[in-house]
Order: sequence, then C-alpha cells, then structure tokens
Amino acid sequence: MAPQVSVVVPVYNEEGNLPELHRRLVAALEGLGGGWELIYVDDGSRDRSFEMLKGYAAERPEVRIVEFNRNYGQHAAVFAGLRESRGEFVVTLDADLQNPPEEIPKIVKALQEGADAAGGWRKFRQDSWARKLPSWLNNRIVSKATGIRLNDYGCMLRGYRREVVDAMAQCGELSSYIPALAHVFARRIVEVPVEHAERGAGHSKYNFAGLMRLQFDILTGFSMFPIRALTWFGGITFLAGALFGVLLLALRLYFGADWAGQGVFTLFAVLFFFVGAQFLAFGLLGEYLGRIYAEVRRRPRFIVRQVHGRNDKENQR
Ligand code: UDP
Ligand code: MG
Repeated sequence: MAPQVSVVVPVYNEEGNLPELHRRLVAALEGLGGGWELIYVDDGSRDRSFEMLKGYAAERPEVRIVEFNRNYGQHAAVFAGLRESRGEFVVTLDADLQNPPEEIPKIVKALQEGADAAGGWRKFRQDSWARKLPSWLNNRIVSKATGIRLNDYGCMLRGYRREVVDAMAQCGELSSYIPALAHVFARRIVEVPVEHAERGAGHSKYNFAGLMRLQFDILTGFSMFPIRALTWFGGITFLAGALFGVLLLALRLYFGADWAGQGVFTLFAVLFFFVGAQFLAFGLLGEYLGRIYAEVRRRPRFIVRQVHGRNDKENQR
C-alpha cells in the first residue's frame, strides 16, 4: 500500500550531516503516526555518503536510495526522487540540516488541509549576504515568470500533493526548477513559516556560476520575457526611426537642403529603421524558438482531478 508521506532528500557529499539528519528525519516521520517512506538520492557523491545511505536502507524497509552514476545537480536529484516516490503527500528537503526535519509535520498539515503545494518560508534565513542576494533576485524573477507571488521560492523544504508530483514527473525537460514547475500544476498554494538553520558540516555546493545557471534555467523554462523584450525594443526603435525619417523629410522640405546638413541625419533615421527592423526580426525568430521549446518540453497541459456527473459510460454497458 502507498505510504501517506514520502520524503525526498538530495545528497551530494554530505557525510558530515547524514547521521544527525537521518536520526532526526526518522524521529519526525515516526511522530506523524501514518505510513511513510524516505528516499535519498545520491547525486554522485565522492565521499562516504552513499555507503552510509546504504547502511540506513539496510536497517529500515521505509528507506530507499536512488543512486546516480555521477553528479547531475540538486534539481535533477529531487526530480529522480519525486519519480520514485509513492506517497499521497511528498515533501522535499535539503540534506545539510538547514531545513530542520522537525518542520515536516507543518508542511504535511498544510497539505492535509487542502493545499496542492506548500512551500517553506524562511523568515529568519541563516545564510551569508553573498548567498541571500542572488536568492532575492531569484525570488523576483520566479514570481514574475510564474505569476505567483511568494515570499520564498528558494526554500527547498516544500510539499506537494500526489497529482502535482505525477504531473511534474511527466515533464520531459532537462533543466528545471522544481518549485516553479510545481506551480504550473498547483492551484492552492500556501506558504508555511519554517525555521532555518546554518549549514551543518561542509559548505554550500553553489558557487556564483551555479546560481547563474539556475537563473537561466528559470528564465528560459518559465518565461518568454527576454524574447518579448527584444521584440519590444525592436518595434519601438523601428517606429522611432520611421517617425524620425518622416520628421526630417518634412523639415527638409520646409527649411531647405542646408538645414538638413547634407543628409547626415537622414542616415540616422535610416540606421534606426534598419536596426529596429533587425531586432524585431530577432524577436519574431525568438517567438518561434520559444514555442518549439515549449513543445519539446512535453509538459502535461492540464491535470483532470475528476470527471463529475452520472457515469454514462458505465450505464451503457
Ligand atoms: N545537492 C545535490 N547535488 C548538487 C548540489 C547540491 O544533490 O550538485 C544537494 C545538497 O547535498 C543539499 C542540497 O542539494 O542537500 C542543497 O545544497 P546546498 O546546501 O549546497 O545549497 P544551498 O543551501 O546553498 O542552496
Ligand atoms: Mg544549504
């Protein structure tokens, strides 16, 4: 029988945190009083993480491990864990003890009360400024791209209802950002204030380049904004060039050839016109590219929760 709660944890070189994490996770899950399963995804760790995880799986039938052959990144790892999960409610969290396992019941409760997705909200975030600033930017971009305003998109302590997880699992995209992807399919989204601790052992796996890559994943995965900006820029330049040309022509006819400086300004008008037309063309090409990308991602377009009304098909038989 499917357990009520699945917990998915991505693990990359976390040997220093695993013993405490595992002990606290099991205690929190036992406290829930329902069936549970714990899925660790080993994202190609090069330390002893995988051996330790194997030990935990040998001890308890509720624990499973998904083993990657190399490092694919946090979101790929969470994705693999979601695919493997079977619980009615699925909770994700980081392995570095920044998300206290004791907060899991709060997330589960929000889902039980009817939320499709419940995100942790770190009101008092224990990270450096260098880590918080990109996250702030990230929050703004995801809020804009998904049209769903949340205080904290970056917190990986989050929970999802089964149907949302199933829809995400059907997505064929390679680069994705799980919290944003979930909101493509979730209707009732709530935020739950949760504690946040400093990292246990080790240090953050994200450097500046990694955060930038994540940013581009989000931007290209959930918004056409950059392409639309090109189109707008091109359109406006194009129009301005054309108007400028008309204005020059009118003034030239009125004031004569000397006023026009022998055509220097006309050159500008022509330049604007063509540069604008070029950007407009880029934007149009981009629109096609964006649509092709949307098609090849093969995201499910909708989820049917249930069909209501008399079951006609059954009756006809
Ligand atoms: N992680 C992973 N693969 C990676 C990088 C990170 O599975 O390539 C895991 C890591 O073990 C941790 C979580 O993702 O459980 C968050 O990583 P980290 O704490 O380094 O990120 P931050 O807290 O700075 O966002
Ligand atoms: Mg962390």
